[in-house]
Amino acid sequence: MQLHFIGTGSILSDRLSSSALIDGKLLIDTPNGSMKAMRRTGLDPKQVDICLITHFHADHFADIIFLFLEQGIGRTRDSDLILVGPTGFADHVEQLFELSYPGSWASTRPHVRPQFVELDTEHGGQWSGSGYHVRAYPMQHAVPTLGYSIVDEAGARLGYTGDTSHCPSVDTLADESSVLVCDTTFPQQGRIGHMGLAEIEELAGRRPGKHFLTTHLSDDVPAPSRPNVIRPDDGQTFTINAHGLVVSDKSVGDGKERGDGQHKKPVLGIL
Ligand SMILES: [Zn+2]
Repeated sequence: MQLHFIGTGSILSDRLSSSALIDGKLLIDTPNGSMKAMRRTGLDPKQVDICLITHFHADHFADIIFLFLEQGIGRTRDSDLILVGPTGFADHVEQLFELSYPGSWASTRPHVRPQFVELDTEHGGQWSGSGYHVRAYPMQHAVPTLGYSIVDEAGARLGYTGDTSHCPSVDTLADESSVLVCDTTFPQQGRIGHMGLAEIEELAGRRPGKHFLTTHLSDDVPAPSRPNVIRPDDGQTFTINAHGLVVSDKSVGDGKERGDGQHKKPVLGIL
C-alpha cells in the first residue's frame, strides 16, 4: 500500500489541508485546494475510484465539487465512483453543487456515476471492494465524523482518525492498524474536538511496534520525540506492507525546515 499525503495541515497552517491518497486511487477527504494540489504533483484526480470522507467541514470536503468536475467534464466514467462517508453524504454533495454551480448537478451526475455508501456516525459500518476492506468508526468532533480502518489484499493495515478528540475509537483504530494517521492539531494536549502531539506520543508509547503519522498539523506542532511517531510533509509518500511501515530515510520525520516551536499564526481549533 502506497500512502501519499496530499496535505497535512489545519486551516491556518502553511501546510495544505489534510488529505491522503492510497495507491493513486483511494482518496481520503477532499479539502479546499486538494484537486489542484494533486494536479501540481502529477497526480490525476480522474484516477480516483474510491473516496472516503471523514466529515463535512470544508477543510475536508469543499473540493468534492471539483472531484466531480474532474471526473465528469468531457468524459463519462466506465465504472462507478464509490463515495463512502457519513449519513447525508449524497444530500451534502447535491446541495453544495447547486450552491456552487446552479443547475449543473443533474447533467454532471450521470457522467460521474456516483455510488454513495452512507455509514452511521453513531455505530460506524463497513464497505468492501476493489481490493480493500474499509471499516468506519464514530469519532468525537464538532460534527458527526468517521475514522477509517483500511486493509488491502496484501494485509497492509492503515488507520485514519479524521478530526477527533482522543476517544475509544482512536484506541480501537490504533489496535487494529499497523500505521495510524492521527489528527495532531495541537502541540501538547488536544482540545475542542482535536488531538495534540502529547496524546499521539502517549498512544505510540503504548504501542512501540506500530507507527503513528501526524496530520492536520498547526505550524506550532514540534517534531515528535518518539521514533515511531513521524511528522510527514505535504507530498510525502510512505509504503505499508503486511508487517507495517516500510521505513526508509525518506520517511523519517522532518523538523528542520519549518522552524520548530515557532508560533507563526494563531490556531483556529473549532473546525
Ligand atoms: Zn473538522
